[in-house]
Amino acid sequence: CIINTLLKFPYSLLQIYFLSIAFFHLKTYLCFAILKSRNYMKVFKFGGASVKDAAGVKNLSSIVHQQHGQLIVVVSAMGKTTNLLETLCNAYFHQDPKATAIMKELKDFHLNIVNSLFPLNNPVYKHLEELFTNLENILASESSLCYDYEYDRIICFGELISTTIISDYLKMEGIENQFIDIRKFLKTDQNYRNANIDLELSEQLCKEAFDFNTSSTFVPQGFIAGTRTNQTTTLGREGSDYTAALLANLLNAENVTIWKDVPGVMNADPKEYEKAQVISRMSYKEAIELSHFGAKVIHPKTIKPIQNKQIPLYVRSFLHPESEGTVIQEIDEHLKLPPIYINKENQCLLTLTPRDFSFIAEEKLSHIFAVLAQYKLKLNLMQNSAISFSFCVDCNSAVFNEFLDQLREEFEVRYNQDVKLITIRHYNEEIIREIIGDTPSLVEQRSRTTAQFVLRNHVLQ
Ligand code: ASP
Ligand code: MG
Repeated sequence: CIINTLLKFPYSLLQIYFLSIAFFHLKTYLCFAILKSRNYMKVFKFGGASVKDAAGVKNLSSIVHQQHGQLIVVVSAMGKTTNLLETLCNAYFHQDPKATAIMKELKDFHLNIVNSLFPLNNPVYKHLEELFTNLENILASESSLCYDYEYDRIICFGELISTTIISDYLKMEGIENQFIDIRKFLKTDQNYRNANIDLELSEQLCKEAFDFNTSSTFVPQGFIAGTRTNQTTTLGREGSDYTAALLANLLNAENVTIWKDVPGVMNADPKEYEKAQVISRMSYKEAIELSHFGAKVIHPKTIKPIQNKQIPLYVRSFLHPESEGTVIQEIDEHLKLPPIYINKENQCLLTLTPRDFSFIAEEKLSHIFAVLAQYKLKLNLMQNSAISFSFCVDCNSAVFNEFLDQLREEFEVRYNQDVKLITIRHYNEEIIREIIGDTPSLVEQRSRTTAQFVLRNHVLQ
């Protein structure tokens, strides 16, 4: 019996040995399968401020250079180019001869940057010449009657030019990459200037276009997209963050990094509040609330696509790429956040009273909401009483007077222009005293987490 056990002993040891090896391989395989489904691909987004001059382009290249593996580099128009293109579009649409001078300013700005980055025989000059000619051809043709359509057709050149320069610069620096005209692959409806993505079609097209077997780095434009019939559309001002989030969602990225001129998501704008500090971790829910209330650091549409696929979003400084910045992800535990202060300027506070002294009831409210939607105005705060309805909207819309006229058909309209909407998340009395002081508010609202104040000409101490 003893001999028998001894004979079996090495056998069972061997069995344990092989089983453990099999288990180890299974574990490695499973980890690999999970990583593979995440594609091990990253998305970087560089905004206009990060590529406003030649030094910015070099800095982008050095950040990209430090990356290994698959990368999508989403880029916005350089500096304030989109604003300049807006003035160009207005001049073109209203047949203002100023268009020629603006076009020259646009060319000079970019050629200046290019001249200090590239030798004269680089193909970038030919690539840019083609883009300038295309834009000049549009300007020389007669415009349609649809402003929003013309806007997208012209505004897209900011991103087409910046990505051309950046893709060619990275190539010159030895970073192999592929330029992508995203209008062919990110498909939208025809809601020009604020188009809605066709996710299914875009997913299919993007998966074909971003083929990491052919290149490890891709350089697509942010903010712009195209209809099924290849008309250019845009996703709303500052929409490049949204493009980055969409591509991450459609292509199952491992994470997204938005490179900014601030060190991360902060609890206030450091230009307005010197004690502002970086918040190192934040939930998707907190981030979406902050951007809704007007925090400029991330575009409000950015969070949903990444939350839906549980992709972490990093907000980091392109000036200090070594610092960690903020990560936005699913956070289960209760995070204690400091008070967060957001100042939304250029607001208009309106108070509507029905002309016939009738109640502000559901039908009246739905009529007001319909008019707001018709003029694409964003409602930022509202409050009602028996016969009045007060609300804050963004004031910088070209159609604002038309909007007022339409409301006046049914209501007596009173309004304060250029007020500010201050939001304090996770407030306490001390921070309210510090930020608001004795300034009388026009409207005030508090929930358990958020306090809001509409103020006239508020100056921070
Ligand atoms: N260039 C566009 C804009 O300035 C998009 C962006 O910057 O995200 O609005
Ligand atoms: Mg921008």
